[in-house]
Amino acid sequence: MTSDPDRTLGAGAVAMPSSSSRASSSLSSSAPSSAQLADPVPRQPVPARASIADVRETLRAAGAGPVHERHLMQQWLQARALDAPYRGDPNFLPRRVREALPAIEHRLGALACVRERAPGEGAERLLVGLADGQTVESVLLPRGGLCVSSQIGCAVGCTFCTTGRDGLLRQLGSAEIVAQVALARRLRAVRKVVFMGMGEPAHNLDAVLDAIALLGTDGGIAREQLVFSTVGDRRAFERLPQAAVRPSLALSLHTTRADLRERLLPRAPRIAPDELVELADTAARASGFPLLVQWTLLDGVNDGDDEVEALAALLAGRRAILNAIPWNAVEGSDFARPPLERAVAFVRGLRARGTMATLRWSAAQEVDGGCGQLRARRAAGGSPATAPVALPATTRLNRAG
Ligand code: SF4
Repeated sequence: MTSDPDRTLGAGAVAMPSSSSRASSSLSSSAPSSAQLADPVPRQPVPARASIADVRETLRAAGAGPVHERHLMQQWLQARALDAPYRGDPNFLPRRVREALPAIEHRLGALACVRERAPGEGAERLLVGLADGQTVESVLLPRGGLCVSSQIGCAVGCTFCTTGRDGLLRQLGSAEIVAQVALARRLRAVRKVVFMGMGEPAHNLDAVLDAIALLGTDGGIAREQLVFSTVGDRRAFERLPQAAVRPSLALSLHTTRADLRERLLPRAPRIAPDELVELADTAARASGFPLLVQWTLLDGVNDGDDEVEALAALLAGRRAILNAIPWNAVEGSDFARPPLERAVAFVRGLRARGTMATLRWSAAQEVDGGCGQLRARRAAGGSPATAPVALPATTRLNRAG
């Protein structure tokens, strides 16, 4: 899909001030005008790339003080009704804020809605619609996990990935990232969030770190259950240890051979695999959690004994866990998924050499293919879903969209 990322919703939608407009926004004035008092959350189109700061600004403009703002952020992120009494007090929120709640709910709901659900065994892929009509994918994973997207498209261009085929279309705003969690929580509990969906989180670093900081506090997710995944980027390795909430780190390595990695991940930073592992390991140690190493198994490409030997040597003496994930078939691709016996032999070979390793038959294989495929199919005209999918009425949030 190549629709204009700055296109806004038509009549009936409501506004979340954009980052660029924040400085000049009248909503941010410390002395609200009479017009603002009459309509603290005016109904205007919702721009793309809304940030968490935009959400906070909206709440403050409606009259929320710091305690009210925190309460409302928690209610939103936990998919609870904004107007629920706080500790039994129905008047906890100021009257002006209470009156603005329907418009605020509408704004939050417009950030993300479910366009399509593709359930599978143990996992479910969601096609999430954004305010500007773009879509991204989130995946409900087993045991309360959620895989979220950080970009629409991706500039890394991994040759085995559908998302990378069209390059980067646009960044997600931090509010659009956490809105995926609020949306998923309408469907079921979310205790873990992995940034392994569409996009390279290191290429949208500020927004992703803002999202992680909020999810790890008001979002109620333990930081070891927040997983930042990257193909390897020096800026990310430098920033993560300084982050307000330091997440777990996953490195998408895929091969120990520099030449092969350049072919598989053509626009990833040119860092030799041994240096890459050293940098990632250093950053992971600063977080206090083991380094997760992601390895997409491609038949006859990176599933051989040579890779087992080299990988075991690279990870020797490190607190690292290798996750081997057999490739999900992509239409028109020359790659193939290795047979189960080969995948098992790969992991056994690592374990025999002292490397902690797990084999994951990707749940996504059972839920409409790998990352980006559901979106790509629907963008190509294969979707019957043109309206938001109705969700359980456990909360008043996210009815819009
Ligand atoms: S695998 Fe990840 S980093 Fe590579 S193109 Fe796809 S989304 Fe981007």
